[in-house]
Amino acid sequence: MLDEKYISQLVESVIKNISGSGACPLCEGNQLGVFDKMEDALAAVAKAYKLYRNYTVAQREKMIANIRRLTLEEAEVMAKMGVEETGMGRVEDKIIKHQVVANKTPGTEDLAPSVITGDDGLTLIEMAPFGIIGSITPSTNPSETVICNSMGMIAGGNAVVFNPHPNACKVANYAVDLVNRAILEAGGPENLVVSVKKPTMETSKMMMECPNVKMLVATGGPGVVKTLLSSGKKAIGAGAGNPPVIVDDTADIEKAAKDIVAGASFDNNLPCIAEKECFAFGKVTDDLIKYMTENGAYLIKGDLIDKLVKVALVEKDGKYSINKKWVGKNAGLFLKELGISADPRLIICETPANHPFVQVEMMMPILPIVRVKNIEEAIELAVQAEHGCRHSAHIHSKNVDRLTAFARAVETTIFVKNAPSYAGIGVGGEGYTTFTIAGPTGEGLTATHSFTRQRRCVMADGLHIV
Ligand code: NAD
Repeated sequence: MLDEKYISQLVESVIKNISGSGACPLCEGNQLGVFDKMEDALAAVAKAYKLYRNYTVAQREKMIANIRRLTLEEAEVMAKMGVEETGMGRVEDKIIKHQVVANKTPGTEDLAPSVITGDDGLTLIEMAPFGIIGSITPSTNPSETVICNSMGMIAGGNAVVFNPHPNACKVANYAVDLVNRAILEAGGPENLVVSVKKPTMETSKMMMECPNVKMLVATGGPGVVKTLLSSGKKAIGAGAGNPPVIVDDTADIEKAAKDIVAGASFDNNLPCIAEKECFAFGKVTDDLIKYMTENGAYLIKGDLIDKLVKVALVEKDGKYSINKKWVGKNAGLFLKELGISADPRLIICETPANHPFVQVEMMMPILPIVRVKNIEEAIELAVQAEHGCRHSAHIHSKNVDRLTAFARAVETTIFVKNAPSYAGIGVGGEGYTTFTIAGPTGEGLTATHSFTRQRRCVMADGLHIV
């Protein structure tokens, strides 16, 4: 493990560099795989991929094991760096996110071949590398996405070129360096994973148009997903969501309240899967709010809600969008703007269903609660608020018919029952993790298999043993 002093020094030196007032060895050309120019990154990764074709699956697995170890060792460095660089999220939660990536991202075990045998011989279907993959990563989980994508893509036998979010490129490139250190230590090729120091729309375009790049993966909002899907290449799109959570009158209300506060406040609501609006049966809403306030939420009412709208959102011609300066900020900072001195995990308020807090994907620790009459109304409003993203939706209920009805109506990639939203990515719920959830293109929770192509090998002259 790295000691406290080293972590502090490292973070301090990177932060100095971010503010332009000092020198950081990591940002001055010493980072493995990080290039000044996209054309150099593309040339280097092409060379690496050629070499990588000769590596065994066991060697791939050794690299993945090293990435897991280094990610655990440097989780705190990246968590602090991510918060400092982007001004978003919580260090303690970002540490957990890195730990989840390290421990629960699948490796080569996810590559399951299939076989068909019969009178006409034996046919083997194997999962082959796609080649060089171009990946665009978000500001909300910058290093987590780089590491998670790298693990799945390398395990699949691919090489990767990243174009990280410009506002989170320092920490994303720290992760690129970490992945390369892990690869080299395991005897892998140089520059199997590359990136650029200053990612821009131009570097992104160059990456997308490079003929050597055979697959594109976008993790972000609607703009980037649309751009990648129009590229003419095989593309995986992991886009925006606005996950609703329903609480009915059969739920364990105290547990539902705790779970929702835990999920909605995690990393200040940055995760795309986090509960972003709540539809509660009228007769349980008072209890739900009471238990939420006993478990880290702060309730605001009346004019304060209108004031908070003015802080968190921007209005133009009656349409609301997020005030980017406030994405991922601590709840206490919002309350300070309202003249309240408190530092809870989450702010809650009652609103009507058409309120902008319900309809806009805010990624802030603010959860609107809408009272509903029955399950039909809850489902109708929740489906509307999800806006057809087909991303994530959650429910607290013990009524199986209602669970089924909501799941059918909302059609989301992730559907969590009676747990915090993060159970959907393997935290307190079964299953592996990913930070690239591909709703629009249907791969679902991406893993090694998502980054492969099927190849069929046929032997028509027997060789089966029955
Ligand atoms: P963003 O869309 O602003 O940026 C994502 C990435 O796309 C960045 O690297 C950005 O530079 C790039 N980009 C944006 N528009 C582009 C374009 N037209 N062409 C090429 N590149 C472009 O997203 P963000 O603010 O960093 O992240 C938050 C959004 O991402 C939310 O909507 C959230 O729901 C979504 N998200 C989804 C997943 C998922 O797995 N589905 C995971 C994380 C975040």
